Amino acid sequence: MRGGAQRGLALGNLGLIENGAVLVQDGIIQEVGSSDAMLRKHPSEDKFDASGFVVLPGLVDPHTHAVWVGDRAREFEMRLQGKSYLEIMEAGGGIVSTVKAVRQSNVAQIVSESRSRLRTMFEHGTTTAEVKTGYGLSLDAELRLLEAILILDETEAIDLIPTFLGAHAVPPEFKNDVDGYTRLVCDEMLPGVKKWWQKNAGSRKLPFVDVFCETGAFNLAQSRRILETAKQLGFPLKIHADEFDNLGGASLAAELHAASADHLVVTSSSDIEALGNSETVAVSLPCTPFGLAEKEYSPAQEMLEKGVTLAIATDINPGTAWCENMQFAIALACRYLKLTPAQAIAAATINAAFAISQNQRVGSIEPGKQADLVLFDIPDYRHLGYRFGVNLAHTVIKKGKIYPIRGYDD
Ligand SMILES: [Zn+2]
Repeated sequence: MRGGAQRGLALGNLGLIENGAVLVQDGIIQEVGSSDAMLRKHPSEDKFDASGFVVLPGLVDPHTHAVWVGDRAREFEMRLQGKSYLEIMEAGGGIVSTVKAVRQSNVAQIVSESRSRLRTMFEHGTTTAEVKTGYGLSLDAELRLLEAILILDETEAIDLIPTFLGAHAVPPEFKNDVDGYTRLVCDEMLPGVKKWWQKNAGSRKLPFVDVFCETGAFNLAQSRRILETAKQLGFPLKIHADEFDNLGGASLAAELHAASADHLVVTSSSDIEALGNSETVAVSLPCTPFGLAEKEYSPAQEMLEKGVTLAIATDINPGTAWCENMQFAIALACRYLKLTPAQAIAAATINAAFAISQNQRVGSIEPGKQADLVLFDIPDYRHLGYRFGVNLAHTVIKKGKIYPIRGYDD
């Protein structure tokens, strides 16, 4: 996967090396080549035998809501019983129910409930993931979520790239005043997050700022106001757009040089063209329509034809897609986005890294990058996508450290 992001129809160039070897030192990839040549050149280095496995770059999940408390199993059941969105809301369901649970939790509770999910993601081969806030919807509660993300990043093997999603939904106290909440996000939350970040996150780059541009959440003008304010404060940008309605969010992302525009189910041809002429990555989330049992998925083929850089993610969240497994997102992308396994793998590694601006560090097996590798117990890379519903990862290597996952004797 060396050579950078794979735009449009160039997607799917794996650069496969048969009988390959990777030389790792101090957690960084030094050399990549054929085993024969590498063994001749470096006969006395420590070896880890990967014979019979497919070795890929660690998977990158560029869109997750993995940090939350509680669950919404009741809501899932109601949906299956044919209850309407309104009935579910009236029964206390929806994003707001998770917000209620988070507002009542302290940082330690949020960390402890989220930790097992991040471990499951790692065990399925995800070595880097973006994680959004957005279940607090007040400055205090959102900062608790950011703090939890930083703690989990530090204490878990998986690398986390944080995103502030204060504009995930309109909180109950602003139910009929979306403009009022938009003002709060712009005037108090964004400056507050920046101040807190500079005090608590050391030299780390500012988090992404994201907004849910959708009917029932934030319209295009409110989304623009939030993203432009964030940009002025120096935050890099992302957007949730076109999950249910086409409001023009993808074109807005391209115009503001956002790192990515995500969901993109009902995206118009002109929006796709705007993405194709920009550096903004389209992140498709096939687990979400699957989770909602909907028929429509991202128009991925049109995106590729129009030169869009396409990535995929799980969108793991408690409402619509509780799925830690990028292997499953790859399997869905093959079936519903009509990607080949090679295309889906590139969308889940190098392009996913590009979607969170981590492509200099991860997403491919090439010298100078972090030694994040997954050994899959499959005879051929096409078994990823082809097979689904089980974990095919045998070993995960993170920054050169070896984590046995399954298939070991003891
Ligand atoms: Zn999302």
